[in-house]
Amino acid sequence: MAPIHTLARWLAWPAFLGLGLTGSALAFQSQSPVLNFVFVYLGTFALLGLAERLMPFEPAWLENDGETANDIAHTLLTKGVVEVLSGLGVVFPMLAAKVFAASQFLRIGGWPVHLPLPLQVVLALIIAEFGLYWAHRLAHEHLNLWRFHALHHSVERLWVVNTGRFHVVDSVFKITLSQVPLYLLGAPVEVFLWVGAVTAFIGILTHCNLDVVTGPLDYIFSTPRLHRWHHSLNLREGNSNYGENLVLFDQIFGTYFNPDREPGRHIGITGKIAKGFLAQLAQPFSRKGQRQILGSKPKAYYEAQIAAELERERAEKAKIVLTPKS
Ligand SMILES: [Zn+2]
Ligand SMILES: [Zn+2]
Repeated sequence: MAPIHTLARWLAWPAFLGLGLTGSALAFQSQSPVLNFVFVYLGTFALLGLAERLMPFEPAWLENDGETANDIAHTLLTKGVVEVLSGLGVVFPMLAAKVFAASQFLRIGGWPVHLPLPLQVVLALIIAEFGLYWAHRLAHEHLNLWRFHALHHSVERLWVVNTGRFHVVDSVFKITLSQVPLYLLGAPVEVFLWVGAVTAFIGILTHCNLDVVTGPLDYIFSTPRLHRWHHSLNLREGNSNYGENLVLFDQIFGTYFNPDREPGRHIGITGKIAKGFLAQLAQPFSRKGQRQILGSKPKAYYEAQIAAELERERAEKAKIVLTPKS
């Protein structure tokens, strides 16, 4: 591998995050912070989309899967339609920031406003992450929530455009668990804006089809490598790495998964997701739709996957024992 390519693989993730956050800082100091943030977001998004073409992790994921329009529609609905309609902006956490700032209702306060802003943002990211982690983990472990989250996992390729493919119910659940604690504690608007910005850029990076190396960053942030494991068809690999921005709670609660091998390219779910945006929105609400989402035998499938994995591990160990020393 050419040294320039190796360097690009190492630098890409921090460079894109740095670009997005520097642009956000400029936007937040301007007269129209939310609107300018949207321009920064769309610019970074476009550059990342271009980089995917030049340096893909999986070339097959560059192929059209027929879901692009649905991906964009779900993104707009869940993260921005209310703000787009009101002409104010695009990212849902930012709407929350404005709504929460306008109301003092139920605030218990105690937020350490005296700390430097970067420290307040780190604290807010950790508090928000606790809600994000549990919302995501519960969505995988309870079928009543999985029927909404399955839409996100139904994709068979990962790329920047399907980052925001979430059922609106799934998103509202996640936003509620992560943003309400910050509101109750009395976090200021700037903190909400920064949590929104970090989540937006780490988000598009987790889904990007870019051939990056993240090395030690995998122990702190939710990186493309960790998120590729999370999308694995193999549930033993997929029911892991629930962190949205940070992987702190995966490490604390034992769901961190980062083996010393390449993540597989086989991603998706065993059930079937409806075709078309409105059908996808409606599917989790009908019995027939739920059955389609869950697939024919989800529990049996899960058990078969684990059995196959254990068998593979046993075979590997047996091979090591049987291999004579040279
Ligand atoms: Zn998930
Ligand atoms: Zn994902």
